Amino acid sequence: MARHAGRNGWVPATSGNFSVRMDGKRAAITATGANKADLTAAEVIESEIAGPRHPRASAEAPLHLLRYAGASELGAICHVHSLAATVLSRRHAKSGVLRLEGWELLKAFAGIATHETRLDIPIVANDQDTNRLALLVEERLKESGPTHGYLIAGHGLYVWGATPLDAIRHMDAFDFLLTAQLHEEALR
Ligand SMILES: [Zn+2]
Repeated sequence: MARHAGRNGWVPATSGNFSVRMDGKRAAITATGANKADLTAAEVIESEIAGPRHPRASAEAPLHLLRYAGASELGAICHVHSLAATVLSRRHAKSGVLRLEGWELLKAFAGIATHETRLDIPIVANDQDTNRLALLVEERLKESGPTHGYLIAGHGLYVWGATPLDAIRHMDAFDFLLTAQLHEEALR
């Protein structure tokens, strides 16, 4: 997941982070400062989902761990600072949602079988207090319809799946759809 995002230029300047659920209690997550494009095993740490913060954990670890605690079906989470996600998250921050509608590639998301649908991606305001931000995100996701990710305004995208392969497919689909949306809005 991390190398895939690195190859695509979605995690500039050691940004972004990635995790996989190990079991009901633990997750493996990228350490702070790692270069995701050529991630090594030493740059992945084990963290308790409900436990104290690991000293080498990324500042954004709470945004991964609270998701695992709140959604037992999630097996992997990716966080990227891709250009389209970052720009659109800020452009639509006031409305708190970005609607993707009618695109064929929406079918890449688990549970979507037709392009005649729409996906409302929640957008939350950025906050350097990631414990507070993680709680806000969980509240927002409870209110919103089913989604496979959300945006943080001016910051980037969180996306997940039942397995790492699902998370990669969803990350690819989001990037394509957000890039398409960005081009379309620029042409209006
Ligand atoms: Zn980030």
